[in-house]
Amino acid sequence: VSQPKTTSMKIAVVGTGYVGLVTGTCLAETGNQVICVDINADKVKMMQNGKLPIYEPGLDILFHRNIAQERLHFTTDLGSAIAEAQIIFLALPTPPGGDGSADLSYVLGAAKDIGKLITDYKVIVTKSTVPVGTADKVRAAMDSQTTVEFDVVSNPEFLREGVAVEDFMKPDRVVIGTQSERARKLMGELYGPYVRQGNPIIFMDERSSELTKYAANSFLATKITFMNEVANLCELVGADVDMVRKGIGSDDRIGRRFLFPGVGYGGSCFPKDVQALVKSADENKYDFKILNSVIEVNESQKTVLSGKVKKYFNGDVKGKKFALWGLAFKPETDDIREAPALYIIDELVAAGATITAFDPEGMNNVRNLIGNKISYAADPYSALHDADALLIVTEWSLFRTPDFDQVAKLLKNKVIFDGRNLYDLQKMIDCGFYYNSIGRKIVS
Ligand code: NAD
Repeated sequence: VSQPKTTSMKIAVVGTGYVGLVTGTCLAETGNQVICVDINADKVKMMQNGKLPIYEPGLDILFHRNIAQERLHFTTDLGSAIAEAQIIFLALPTPPGGDGSADLSYVLGAAKDIGKLITDYKVIVTKSTVPVGTADKVRAAMDSQTTVEFDVVSNPEFLREGVAVEDFMKPDRVVIGTQSERARKLMGELYGPYVRQGNPIIFMDERSSELTKYAANSFLATKITFMNEVANLCELVGADVDMVRKGIGSDDRIGRRFLFPGVGYGGSCFPKDVQALVKSADENKYDFKILNSVIEVNESQKTVLSGKVKKYFNGDVKGKKFALWGLAFKPETDDIREAPALYIIDELVAAGATITAFDPEGMNNVRNLIGNKISYAADPYSALHDADALLIVTEWSLFRTPDFDQVAKLLKNKVIFDGRNLYDLQKMIDCGFYYNSIGRKIVS
């Protein structure tokens, strides 16, 4: 039996954010011709000049290689980007609207524009995270503008910022929602090179595919939130959440991953996706009780660390000076959207404290967002000078084994509040720190 011949394809990617740029670059990496289009002219110019607008490990090598080999191009002109493309990916924002539901204006606006421009058969792929029923809306938006044949496919993206390139090149699974045989064949061929180890390409209808993405993110947000509640209870009953975590994680049905308690989930996806799924459920007169609780618990988890700090200083942090390690919502990214650090900064600065922060990649974005509401340090140690306490908010590897003698020398008080449980309790006792972490004994 002859195998279907896979040949390089012409692809357009609309939106070059964390998802679009990784998608475009990784699709070029296997030999496809890719044009990425964005309305942000500064960003496009930067990429045309060979500069990456985001920090994502490993992306630079692929980005430069595919530009040099002329498979990866950037433009602000949608028309020229899609003229030759067989497949058009929409990797556009779907931020929460005023009521928490996903704002589809970017996706549907682009669909309309594409409808006006196409002159031959195209597959339009929604990579953005979109609510159930969006494929029908994209189809209707295009239908209102064209009589040319096209198919709409739902292909949610599961990449994780920080390991996005690896996740795209070797996905655990690819989900493709379509009922068109023609689109199914094209998408299967496109993704073939990425699943050579045998990870599945799971074909399904559009609605199931759209819901799969929300269910996945909501499940993960629930898992984290569950552990945050276990941690809070550990503190009250004198148990150690790290032991409980290992104790339950060794059960295959639970798994070791995603069991680390902390300062609440953040980022550009979990908060908005959980909210949007609750909203979708509401619209269908279904009360998604567990997710409403997840949202509520996560809101209060964001204040757990600042609450501990305030309690330590008897409710008065006015004039206190804090060092803060970690601004990005997680390690290995410069993304600060919904980052827990921003909430902690708000709380403590509003209470009269001053903060000097260090983050390996997130400082520029925070500076652009809140300016000199806080100070920024050139390295972790210079943030510590004369500080009343050190707060750890993001678990960058760099913070895992600091020079504790230096830390002790530079801080005014040997006090650490750790929102990520980076350090061994005995080590902290030996080094003479007061050390308050999440779901574990306070030691001093
Ligand atoms: P982003 O904000 O980083 O990027 C969006 C890009 O689209 C920006 O560069 C913006 O300038 C551009 N844009 C806006 N309107 C445009 C238009 N009309 N034409 C062309 N470009 C336009 O967003 P992101 O983080 O890449 O997320 C995109 C989608 O993917 C969202 O739906 C998100 O939920 C989903 N998603 C994100 C991740 C993630 O880790 N970031 C993972 C999976 C899915």
